[in-house]
Parts: sequence; C-alpha cells; structure tokens
Amino acid sequence: MMFITKKMIEIRNLLQKVGQSNTVTLPSIVVIGSQSSGKSSVLEAIVGHEFLPKGSNMITRRPIELTLVNDPEARVDYGEFPDLGLTRVTDFSLIQKTLTELNQSVPESLCVSDDPIRLTIHSPGIPDLSLIDLPGYIQVAGENQPRELKRKISELCDKYIRGPNIILAISAADTDLANSTALQASRRVDPRGERTIGVITKMDLVEPDKGADILSDRKYPLRLGYVGVISKLPTQTGLFRRETGNLLAGITRNERSFFNTYPAQFGPEAGVNTGTITLRKKLMQVLEQTMSSKLHETTESIQRELEETTYQFKVQYNEQPMSAEAYLAASLDEFKHQFHAFSSSFGRAQLQSLLKDALDQKVLDQLAARYWNRPVEDLSVALPEPDNIADLPTADPKSPYWHRQLDTALSGLTRLGVGRLAATVAATAVQSNIDKLLDKSSFSKHPSARKAISEAASTVLADRSYATSDGIEISLKPYKFDPDIQPNEWAQGREHVVGVLQGELEQCQSALKSLESAVGGRKKLKEVMTFVDKARRGEVIVEGDHHPSGAGGFSAALLARGREAAFLRDRADIINMRITAAKSRKCKDPENKYYCPEVFLDAVATKLSQTAVLFLNVEMLNDFYSRFPREVESKLHEHMAAGGLERFAREDPKVRRHLDLIHRKELLELVLTKIEDLNRFGGGAGSGRGAA
Ligand code: GDP
Repeated sequence: MMFITKKMIEIRNLLQKVGQSNTVTLPSIVVIGSQSSGKSSVLEAIVGHEFLPKGSNMITRRPIELTLVNDPEARVDYGEFPDLGLTRVTDFSLIQKTLTELNQSVPESLCVSDDPIRLTIHSPGIPDLSLIDLPGYIQVAGENQPRELKRKISELCDKYIRGPNIILAISAADTDLANSTALQASRRVDPRGERTIGVITKMDLVEPDKGADILSDRKYPLRLGYVGVISKLPTQTGLFRRETGNLLAGITRNERSFFNTYPAQFGPEAGVNTGTITLRKKLMQVLEQTMSSKLHETTESIQRELEETTYQFKVQYNEQPMSAEAYLAASLDEFKHQFHAFSSSFGRAQLQSLLKDALDQKVLDQLAARYWNRPVEDLSVALPEPDNIADLPTADPKSPYWHRQLDTALSGLTRLGVGRLAATVAATAVQSNIDKLLDKSSFSKHPSARKAISEAASTVLADRSYATSDGIEISLKPYKFDPDIQPNEWAQGREHVVGVLQGELEQCQSALKSLESAVGGRKKLKEVMTFVDKARRGEVIVEGDHHPSGAGGFSAALLARGREAAFLRDRADIINMRITAAKSRKCKDPENKYYCPEVFLDAVATKLSQTAVLFLNVEMLNDFYSRFPREVESKLHEHMAAGGLERFAREDPKVRRHLDLIHRKELLELVLTKIEDLNRFGGGAGSGRGAA
C-alpha cells in the first residue's frame, strides 16, 4: 500500500472541499504525448477500463485530473465526478460519455480550456495515483482546426509539466524518438531528465532489437528510465476480448507472451523495463517518493495557511465561535423577543380601535346610501321628490319615512357580517405586524425561512377564523333590533362621529383639489361643473347617457370629471351640513335619533365593536399568542431538515464568511494533524511496496 500518496490524496481532497486546493500543490503525474502515440491506451491499461473519449475527430480540450483510489472495500469499480455531483458511476461507458460531453463543452473557437475535469476512480485493483491527462500534441493542424490550436495545446501542457509534477512522456516505438514531441517538451522543463518517465508504446510494431535499443536509454537518458508497453489487445485472438472486462489482465498476458518470445532483447539479463504492470509499479514508487520529498514543504505551507486563517479569525471575529445551529437559535430568540414585545403591546384596545375604524367606514356607507343620496350621476335626470336632503334637517320624528330610513341603516350595519369583518380585520392586523417583525429580524435575509414563519402565522390565524366570526355573530344578536343607547354612549358617539365626518370632508376636498389640477385649474373645473349642474336641472339638453363625443364644448372626459367634481362638491356640502347638525343642540339628545342618524349609528358601531372584540381577544388573539411560537418552531424544524439548516445560515453573507473561515480553520487543523502523523510514522517510507 502506498501510504503517503494515499494520505496526500486524501488531504488534497479535503482541501479541495473548502476551495483550498491552491494551498498545497501536490505532485501529480502529467501524461503528455503526440496524438495517436497511444496515450489513451496506456492510461486505460493502467486503470483497467476503457473510459477515455475516442473517435478520429476527438481532440481532448480540457485536462482530466484523474485520481485513482485503491479501495479494498469497493465491490465493483466505479467513477465519480465530484464537480458534477455524480457519484458511484459503475458503467464506464457512461463515464466515457460524460467525459466526451464535458470535453465538447469547450467552444471550438477557444481551442482548449485549462479548467480541468475532475474524475476519481475507485477500485480494489488499482494503485493510489494522481494523474493528469492532457490534450495530445498535434503536429500539423488539420484543415478545420484553428491555426493556434497547436500552440494553445502546447501552452496548456507547459502549465502542467512544471515541477514538482512527474512527466509521463509517451512516444510510440515506431516513430523516431528524436521527433518525440513529448520528450522535447520534457527536456525543456526537465533538462536533466530527473522527473520524466519515458513510456514507449507500440513495442509490437518494431523489430525487437530496435525496441530494446530504444528502451536501453542511451540516446536520451532519463533518470527514471523508459518502460516499453503494448497497450493494445490483439484483436483477432478472441482470447483477450475486451468484453471480459479485465483489460489489464489481457494486456499483461499479451505483453508477457510478446516480451518472453525475445529473451535476449527483453529478458532479465537485458536490463530493460517492459510491461504495463512494471509501468504501474514505477509510477507508484516515483509518485510516493516525490510526495514523500514534498512532505516537509507541504506541512510548512499548511502550517502557514493555518496561521493566517487563525489570525484572520482573531482579527475579523475576535475568535467568536459560530455554527448554523447557533445562528438559527439566536435568530429565533431575537424574533421571539420581538414577538413577545408585540404581543404585550397589541391587545383588546388596539383591536377595538382597528375594528371601530373599519365600522366607521361602514357607517359612512350607510349614511351615504340612506341620507346623502342626491343623484348626480345622471345629468339627464332631475332631482326626485321628496328631496330628502332638504328634508333631513327637519326630520319629523313622527314621519314613518325617517323611521324606515333609520331602521334600514341600522340593519344594514348590524347585518353586514360584523363577525367576518372583525375576524378579517384582526387576522390582517396580526399578520401584517408579524410580517413587519420579520422584516426587522434576521429572517429578512432568508426569504424561504421568512415565508415559513409568515405561513405559520396565517395557518394559526386561519384555524380560528371561522369559529371566531361565528361566535361574534351570535354575541351581536341583541343589537340587531333597537339597541339600547345610554346617554354617555350617545355623547361619545356624537363627539366621535364629528371627527369621522370631518375626515370624510377632508377627503372630499382633497379629491376636488386633485380634480382641479387634473383639468387645468379651478376656473376650468367651475365652468364644467356649471354646465353639469345646468344639464341636471334640465336647462340644457344633453343627448344620450354618456355623451361619448362630449357636449357644451366639453370633451367626454372633461364632462366625466365635471360630474365627479359636482358629486364631491355636493357630498362636501351635505357633510358640512351634517357636521353642523351633529354639533347642534338638537343632537345632544338621544331622543332625536331620527334627526341625528350619524350619532346613533356611531354609538351602535361602538357597541358592536366592543362586543366583537371581547370574543376576538379570547378566541383569536390569545389563542394566536399561545400557539404561534410552537407553530414557528415546527415549521422551521421542517424547513431545516435535509441540509436546510446549513443552507439557511449560509444565505446571510456575513454568516457565510464567518462559517467558511471557521470551517477552513477546522479543516486545516485536521489536515495538519494528518500530515504531522504522516511525518511521524510514514515520512521515511518513501519507497512504498507495490500494490499491483
Ligand atoms: P492517443 O491519441 O495518443 O490517445 O492514442 P490512442 O491510445 O488512441 O492510440 C492510437 C492508436 O494506436 C489506436 O488505434 C490504438 O489502438 C493504437 N495503439 C495504441 N497502443 C498500441 C500498441 O501498443 N500497439 C499497437 N499495435 N497499437 C497501439
């Protein structure tokens, strides 16, 4: 077992997890060679599977970082693409297909890309190795290939063949070694041949004497020597058919039978290295030695990185610990605290005032429908009799007309569904307060968690809504006919409704103002209104209902604004009149309720809201206050399942940076202990024993 290589590969994988792969550049074996030199065949023989992109037009466009993991536990061989999240791919033709697609993803105009494809292969039958397959050197660019392809490939290879990487220079036996692009490239960066292994492929294609001569290393000496291989299975024999799955076994058998045929050239006495198995062993040994010699340096750079990270942790975060759990707990605590503050400030009184506001609007609606209904919509229709507006100041308490008006307004108010209105008003208010709390909390940075909490609120509120509105309706029954208004209630109603009417008056006036500026000034609006009034009194004749082409020199749009303005003016007049009435002595007396419907309806509305709120408070609000926190916990719990917690915390960039730094620090500490163990126990075992 190659101890150091294995551990170092593990360490590199750990570092890659936090994007720290640059911290430590572990030596790899880079495979270079001309196109068709047999490079892919050699790599596949080492791995024991066909998996590399093939095809006459296939140019490798991206480096493949190939990590071989000797995995005694693996029942079947499999590959993994960590960057794609593809794990345990046992079908090697699928690996081949994936590599082909990844390779083709590089646009032709770019020629090649230095963004490597990472592939890990696990098998009990392979050694731990870290290999990088590079695009094959091309001699002459093909017709359809861009001119700079040749140069770009060569530049890409140059990046990788730097030290401390080991160069596996592939050359075919049947081409002149002097022309080997791989050896030429290697000599440029490794002139003394100290970290280059020469691989001579296609040994079966040359005379044994010539083959042995190449391997004997005289012309182009390399300290790590040459290995001669035959990486192609003889096709005819059927004996070594690829389908058997055991590519390496077939290749080895074939190589043995070939090299054994020529003992004089390739036998033990000849002093040359042959066979894929020998090559594999050599790769393992050389990589192990290189890793071992880099151990000290690597340890130091990890130490430096750890020191820097520790320093950053101190300066940036004052060594404050952080975890996703702690962040969630703190966020939740803070939110609950805010919620508690809200719940103690939002109770019966607040609900009552909200509901009363809503009912005030309903009172105004009733008043508008029963008392202020001077028809001004239709210009062609004259004012109907009786002119109840003019009549109202004298509203005779004996007149059944005014009795009916007040009864209808009262039942309009009590039967409008106060229960539902109250439940809706309360739920809307609570929901919007919770949403505001969320906006101010740390959950505002976490949209999906925020949504989960907001939904928790709606769920709890919706749960009680029906029962609450039902309960309210029942409790309001006594007010539906002739509610009993006490003098103090009347007095309060009188005071309050004047304010409401004044608010309504202001709204009319400001709407009038905006109409004024919309038509281009007060004078213009006056002109249109005068025309509209005349039309209404029948003094001018306007054809049709909607005057599509306008009338009296005014456009249809202008007339519409004029009608609206006339309506608002009349409404303001009436309201003004009603304010005066409500303030008058006559309206002090509850006996005069037919004359003062505003006061009466306001007092009723107050009674309705008071009764409704008793129910709302207990049935809805208190229930919400007790159940909501639990519902939040359970919704968040669901939300945080399956990696959700980590995702949640990392949504906040500040937390993410904090977590990343801690993670990096922990990882570097782990890596450092691992590498220190290696130094202590395995540092000297530079020359490992073979696995194959
Ligand atoms: P690459 O372009 O360098 O990856 O080369 P390949 O591995 O695709 O090989 C090119 C061609 O040479 C293929 O047809 C292989 O079958 C053939 N080939 C590779 N190695 C040998 C070998 O040792 N002997 C023989 N006879 N042919 C080989």
